Amino acid sequence: MSMDVTFLGTGAAYPSPTRGASALVLRCEGECWLFDCGEGTQTQLMKSQLKAGRITKIFITHLHGDHFFGLPGLLCTISLQSGSTVTKQPIEIYGPAGLRDFIWRTMELSHTELVFPYVVHELVPTADQCPTEELKDFVHVNRADSPPKDGQGRTILLDSEENSYLLVDDEQFVVKAFRLFHRIPSFGFSVMEKKRPGKLNAQKLKDLGVPPGPAYGKLKNGISVVLENGVTISPQDVLKKPIVGRKICILGDCSGVVGDGGVKLCFEADLLIHEATLDDAQMDKAKEHGHSTPQMAAAFAKLCQAKRLVLTHFSQRYKPVALAREGETDGIVELKKQAESVLDLQEVTLAEDFMVIGIPIKK
Ligand SMILES: [Zn+2]
Ligand SMILES: [Zn+2]
Repeated sequence: MSMDVTFLGTGAAYPSPTRGASALVLRCEGECWLFDCGEGTQTQLMKSQLKAGRITKIFITHLHGDHFFGLPGLLCTISLQSGSTVTKQPIEIYGPAGLRDFIWRTMELSHTELVFPYVVHELVPTADQCPTEELKDFVHVNRADSPPKDGQGRTILLDSEENSYLLVDDEQFVVKAFRLFHRIPSFGFSVMEKKRPGKLNAQKLKDLGVPPGPAYGKLKNGISVVLENGVTISPQDVLKKPIVGRKICILGDCSGVVGDGGVKLCFEADLLIHEATLDDAQMDKAKEHGHSTPQMAAAFAKLCQAKRLVLTHFSQRYKPVALAREGETDGIVELKKQAESVLDLQEVTLAEDFMVIGIPIKK
């Protein structure tokens, strides 16, 4: 099953001609999951190889404008372009408490009637995810003119034992969220592909005398079969090694994680996508604003033993490599060096708009 990540916006704070506001798409077999949706995400999507109509799930890390102000516009455009081909499955949207009210209210105020259904599942943050003075409660979302409760998604609380939030658990994937520290509560997401049974070993099936037909299907699905001669064949006799699932972790803005959920869920991630808003020389300023530097991102990647670190969410002053001035000593290339120095020179990738990173099946 093919899997890749496309960066649609890699800039912090606002979209610019060289870096869009935060957004990326994880694509698995044509199905697209959107992570963050900053202003302008829909035009970035149009410039990419991806189709907005293929989006089935949307995950929002936190409620700063550069991560979700593109959402109402994107939903409206998907609706306009859907024509009569209305999908029966609702688009599932996951994000911090308050997001449901925001979407419902923008649709209500603009008299927008989307042609497809959507549900918003809200994650309830804990008080230690941001400075005390920034903490807001969301009692207002329970006002009488709030969105209807029925069919409007779950309210997901922290599983305090696991230190995480369970968002998705289907045949192929488990998606969990974990807590981050930022100016306002922020989350990271861990997408874990489930282990799949290995392929049937044709030679072994032949050697053991298993006749082609329904027995193959049963064995493939983990069910033993009894041959005509009374011999029992177990799936492990004829299946190749199971295919290990891949793990992709995407963190929202942060100056650190809260609790051990992040390290547990990002452990040995195949791809770890972490923000690095400012360079290491500005670490104090970065922390003050709830952000990270390359060194901080790399230290987390090292702790998790991540296989590949990708940095994103760069201050707009860091132009993409191709546009960087020659001999620049405070440019984007420095950020790469700073991260690599922590990771014993293991290569670090700097995200750029429209960059696509494939995640190959594990051998
Ligand atoms: Zn941001
Ligand atoms: Zn932010």
